Amino acid sequence: MAKPRVLFVCHTGAISGAELVLVDLVQPWAGESALLFENGPLAPALAAKGLKVTVSRWGQGLTQVRRDSSILKVIPLVGRLFGIVLETIAAARRHDVVYANSQKAFVLSALAVSVARRPLIWHLHDIISSVHFGAMQRRVQVTLANLFASRVVVPSKACADAFIAEGGKQPLVVVVPNGLDIAPEALSPAQIRQQLQLPEGPLVGVFSRLAAWKGQHVVLQALARTPGVSCIIAGDAMFGEQAYAAKLNQMVIDLDLGDRVHFLGRRSDVPRLMRAVDAVVHPSIDPEPFGRTLVEAMLAGVPVIATDAGAASDILQAGRAGTLVPPGDADALAAAIINIMSKPPELAAQLNYAEARAKSHYGAAQMLRAIAGVIDDASGARA
Ligand code: UDP
Repeated sequence: MAKPRVLFVCHTGAISGAELVLVDLVQPWAGESALLFENGPLAPALAAKGLKVTVSRWGQGLTQVRRDSSILKVIPLVGRLFGIVLETIAAARRHDVVYANSQKAFVLSALAVSVARRPLIWHLHDIISSVHFGAMQRRVQVTLANLFASRVVVPSKACADAFIAEGGKQPLVVVVPNGLDIAPEALSPAQIRQQLQLPEGPLVGVFSRLAAWKGQHVVLQALARTPGVSCIIAGDAMFGEQAYAAKLNQMVIDLDLGDRVHFLGRRSDVPRLMRAVDAVVHPSIDPEPFGRTLVEAMLAGVPVIATDAGAASDILQAGRAGTLVPPGDADALAAAIINIMSKPPELAAQLNYAEARAKSHYGAAQMLRAIAGVIDDASGARA
C-alpha cells in the first residue's frame, strides 16, 4: 500500500509541549501538509521538517478564546470558524488522513471530515476533565470523537482514563508515549554554569511555560524554606497567563528571593540548562497529561522532583526514577530539595535507572513507529 498522504492540523502557531511533540512526530512525513489556524513559530518549525505549511485566512487570534469560555463568547467567532472548516474540507480532500494535534483542531477537523469523508486521528495531548474544560466543551469533544475519530492517540494512561471516563469509546484509544531523542551534552555542569553565567552553589531548575497549574508559585514557596538554594525558571506566559507571570514576580519580591530566583524567559537550550542544575523540579498542581520535561531531565542524568499527579507517577515509575511529592505542598517540595542537595547514597543508582528507563520507554523511534502504525491503520479503515 502506498504511504498515505497526511494533513496535520494544528490550532496554534505557538510552540508548547504538544507542538514540540508534533514537530518531532512529523519527521517521517516530509512532503506532507500542515494546516495551522494561526501563524507563529510552529510554521517555520514544521516547514524545516519538510512539510508544506498553510496558515488559515480566518484563524488569527483564535487562541484568545479560552478553553473554558462560555458558549456565548464563542458565538461571534462562528463565521470565522466556518471559514476554517471550509479550508479544512478543501485541504482534507487532497489527503488520505487528517491528523488533528489539539482539541480545537480536532473539533473543527471533525466537522470538516463529516463532509470530506476522510479518516480523522485526534492526538489528544490533554487530560479531559473539569480542571481545564467546561462541561459543554467536554461533551462536544467526546461526542465528536465517538462519531468521527478513527483513533484517539494519547500520551499516557492518565489521558486515556480521563477520555474514557468522559464517555469516550475505549477501542478508539491508542496510548503512544511522547518520545524524545536528545543528544548527550558534552560540557560539564560547571562549564555550562560558567558559560551561561548561572549561579554557583545549590541550584534547581523549572522548565515549563508560566501557568498557574504548572505550579511555579509552589517552587517559590519551597525556596523560601530552603535558604541557600537558587533556582532558574525557564519558560514564558503563553496562553493568556501574563497575570500569573506578574504574580510570580511579585512573590519573588515579597518572599525576598530576588538574589536566588532567575527568570530566564523561554529558552531553546533546555537540555543544556538541565544538565547544569542539581535537580529539575516539575511542580504542576493539576495532573500532567505527560510532562516532556520529566523525560528530558531523566535523559540529562539530573534528579527529578515531580508532583504525584497524572502521568508523572508512571514516567517516574512510582518514585523509582525520581522523587514524587504531593501537588501544591511547599513543605514536601522543600524537604525533597534538601534531600537531593544532601546527595543521598541511593541517588546515583536512581539516576542510572531513570536514564535507562527514558531511553527504553520514551525514545523518539518508538513514537514514530507507533504513530506510523496508527496512520496506516486509519488510512486502511477508509478503504
Ligand atoms: N520548554 C522549552 N523552553 C522553555 C521551557 C520549556 O523549550 O523555556 C520545553 C520543555 O523542554 C518541554 C516543553 O517545553 O519540552 C514542555 O513540555 P511539557 O510536556 O512538560 O509541558 P506542556 O507545555 O506540554 O504542558
